[in-house]
Amino acid sequence: MKKHLRLILEILLGICLVATAALAYWNFSAKKHLNEQVAELSEQLDEAKESLEKVHEEADASKDAKAEPDNTANQEMEALKSAFANGVVLQDVETLYKAQKALSAERQVGMASLRLLTKGAQDPDTIAAYQKALEMAEWSNRLQTVCAAQNALAAAGQKVKVLSECKKSTDKEADAKEEHAKKDDKAHDVHWGYEGDNGPEHWGDAFPVCGKGKKQSPLNIVGPFEKSKDSLSVDYKEGPLKMFNNGHTIQVNIEPGSTLTIGKETFDLLQFHFHRPSEEQVEGKNASMVAHFVHKSKEGKLAVIGVLLNEGKDSAPIKTLWANLPPKEGEEFLPSKVTFNPASMLPKEMAFYNYEGSLTTPPCTEGVQFYILKSPMEISKQQLAKFPYKVNARPVQSLNGRKISAGG
Ligand SMILES: [Zn+2]
Repeated sequence: MKKHLRLILEILLGICLVATAALAYWNFSAKKHLNEQVAELSEQLDEAKESLEKVHEEADASKDAKAEPDNTANQEMEALKSAFANGVVLQDVETLYKAQKALSAERQVGMASLRLLTKGAQDPDTIAAYQKALEMAEWSNRLQTVCAAQNALAAAGQKVKVLSECKKSTDKEADAKEEHAKKDDKAHDVHWGYEGDNGPEHWGDAFPVCGKGKKQSPLNIVGPFEKSKDSLSVDYKEGPLKMFNNGHTIQVNIEPGSTLTIGKETFDLLQFHFHRPSEEQVEGKNASMVAHFVHKSKEGKLAVIGVLLNEGKDSAPIKTLWANLPPKEGEEFLPSKVTFNPASMLPKEMAFYNYEGSLTTPPCTEGVQFYILKSPMEISKQQLAKFPYKVNARPVQSLNGRKISAGG
């Protein structure tokens, strides 16, 4: 059943991506080539509808075979099916999604695209859903999602950086217009950092959750602790080294296949990145740095493992990473013939502090489980000095009645 669900979402995403691209295009190109776009869009929709029918038949067959079918999946399929049959029935999809705590980037972009089709580009929820998708998207593997969200936000008049790879599909006229808009209105660029007017205390101006959220990260970790029932089981694999400087940190992107299992739930490791000093405090003290390992489940839930780095001896894995720092910001860098195993960054002991928090960078989305490992690793003074960001840590946030647990 999971397989079917995935397929359906892929189809939905496909449809929405096409629709989004078309709408964004119309906005830019003053409705030239409109007929061409409409024809292409309806062709794609027809194809997708056919595939959906097929999936539905298959699902029906498997429902008969099984005593207990996955109810949510069937409901979701029904909603999607009728959405396509009647034009766009956004409500059904939203009702189903509302029952879930966290949505994946693909679902966010799918829902946002449905909203875009029904409620228009200026609807705040449409923009919010795209922004969420953008934050959650796997930059390396889900370029389509990223491009769709970026193009849609740009089309809605939001100032977002559109990756050069995403511009390939738009024509020169659109590019020129966008360039013009950028020059006209540079002040509105959504720009954030760690100092001055762009610093963490101002993030809330452009990203409301950062200012008003009640479950924000990082935290100062102090007892008494509740006992955690969770157990972490890490299965990271060696793979080609992919380095990325996103303008806020150095990030290592991970090929699919490295996983974290918490209880019965499996999460894919997407990337890990660094903050200096550590964002988390333990009894009021920051470590020299922290490495955040970001994981995502099939349902789109996020779990972060934090490894604190204290000043001490040279770290062999960091030696490899720092020797391959990306020469350029905003572009993934793949040094040839260099492989890396993220497991080499972990301590032997996996005992942890756990709390529910948020992304520590805008838009500060909540619902992220944090597991800060009790055992720190070491990094030498020289290695610390080589990290290109002097300060890139959000200050600790209010606990607001949350409980911190300890386990492992
Ligand atoms: Zn982080």
